[in-house]
Amino acid sequence: MSLVVAKFGGSSVATPERVKNIAHLLVERKSQGDDVVAVVSAMGSTTDNLIDLAKAVNAHPSGREMDNLMSTGELVSMSVLALAIEQLGEKAMGMNGRQVGIITNDDFGNAQIKEIHTDRIHEALKEGYIVIVAGFQGIDEDGDITTLGRGGSDTTAVAIAASLGADVCEIYTDVDGVYSADPRVVGKAQKLDRISYEEMLELAAAGSGVLHKRCVEFARNFDVKIHTRSSFENVPGTIVEDMIDVEKAIVSGVAYDNSEAKFTLRGVEDTQGVAAKVFNELAKRKISVDMIIQNISENGFTDISFTSPTSELENVKKILEELLTKLSARSYQINDNISKISIVGAGMKANSGVAAKMFQTLADEGINISMISTSDIRTSVVIDQTQFKHATQCLHTAFGLDGTEIFEDNTLSEQELKDKANKGR
Ligand code: ADP
Ligand code: ASP
Ligand code: MG
Repeated sequence: MSLVVAKFGGSSVATPERVKNIAHLLVERKSQGDDVVAVVSAMGSTTDNLIDLAKAVNAHPSGREMDNLMSTGELVSMSVLALAIEQLGEKAMGMNGRQVGIITNDDFGNAQIKEIHTDRIHEALKEGYIVIVAGFQGIDEDGDITTLGRGGSDTTAVAIAASLGADVCEIYTDVDGVYSADPRVVGKAQKLDRISYEEMLELAAAGSGVLHKRCVEFARNFDVKIHTRSSFENVPGTIVEDMIDVEKAIVSGVAYDNSEAKFTLRGVEDTQGVAAKVFNELAKRKISVDMIIQNISENGFTDISFTSPTSELENVKKILEELLTKLSARSYQINDNISKISIVGAGMKANSGVAAKMFQTLADEGINISMISTSDIRTSVVIDQTQFKHATQCLHTAFGLDGTEIFEDNTLSEQELKDKANKGR
C-alpha cells in the first residue's frame, strides 16, 4: 500500500466529463489499496475569468480581496470532484487551505508556504476517505486567505506530498511529460524520461510553465520525486528527481518566456548608490526583477535596463517616474514586446562554446539579441517577441534536440500562446 498525492491542472478538470474520469482514476487507485490525496486547480480558465471579473469592477484591486476571489475557483473543482467520487460510492472529503492547515506568509497573490498541518488529512485517510485538497491557496497568520501565484497548485501538491512523506507526487496535465521544449511551439520536441531538479528548476524559471518553479524547489529540498504525466492517456511521463551520476546533456531543453517587459532608465549619474536606489524601490514594492544590465558610462552618465513581469508594468512605470525626479535621470523606456529565450543543460558547466553557438545560431537567423544573462547551467537572451517561435525552434535544432514531428497539429497560434503565457504567471 502506498500514499499517492496526485495533482490535476485546470484543463484536466475543465468539464464534468473530465472530472468524472478523474473520479474513476482515483477510485481505482483506492481500490488497489492506496491512500489517495488529490490536489485540484480551478476548472478550465476559471482563474482568468475571475481576474477579468475583478478588473471589470476595480482597476486597482487590493491583494487581500483578490485572493478571496481567486481562491474560489479551486473550491468549486474540489467540491465537484468530491461529489463525483461520492457518486461512485466512495467516501470523499474536500478540504480548502484553511481546513488542511496550509499556513503562508501574507504576501497576497504570491504567498509562500511556511508550514502545513497534516493531522486532518491523516485522520481522513485513516477513516477511508479519498481526500481532495483545493490547490493554490492557504491562510496567513491572521486567518486571511492567500494564494500562491499563478500555477501554484503544483506547489500545494508537492508541499503536501513532502509533509505526508509521500514517495512520489504525480502532476497530471494536458501534455504527457516534460519535453525538450514546449511541444505546442516545437513540433519536434522530445519527451524526457527523466530530468534533474537542477535542470527542471532552471527550465521552470526560464518560462516552461509545465511545472511551477516553487514546486520544484520544494521537491528538491524535501526529496520528493515528481512524476509529470498526462491526465488523458495512461502512459509514463517524466520523472523529476536527483540525478547526480548520469551523463549530463550539454543542452536538455529550450524555453521561452513572453511574460516580461524591459525597462530602461536613461542618463542616470554613474556613481555609487544609484543602482541600489533603483532596485530598492522595486524591492520595497515586491516587484521581482530578472535580468539587469548597466551600460558603460559616457561623460559620467549611464543607462540601466532590467526586466520585470509585464503584469507589474503600471507599477514599475510609476516607480520610474518617481526615479526620474529623484535621480535626475534623462528619461525612461518601456518595451513589453520582448521574449526571453533560454537554453538549459547540466553539461554546460563543463563545455565551453555553448553560449557562442547560441548567439551564432540566432545571428544566422537574423535575430538580434538585446540582453544576455547566464547561470552555471543556463544561458538566456532577450529578443523581439515576434521572433520567439522561430528562435526557440532553431535553437532546438542547432543543439541536436529534434525528434520526429509528433505535435504538428498541436502547435498553437501566436495569440493562443500569448494567452497561455499570460496565464502562466
Ligand atoms: P496545468 O493547467 O495542468 O497546470 P499548464 O498549462 O500549467 O497545465 O502546463 C502545461 C503546459 O505547459 C503544456 O500545455 C505546454 O504547452 C506547456 N509547456 C511549456 N514548456 C513545456 C515543456 N518543456 N514540456 C512540456 N510542456 C511545456
Ligand atoms: N488556478 C490557478 C491558476 O490558474 C492555480 C493553478 O492552476 O495552479 O493559476
Ligand atoms: Mg500549471
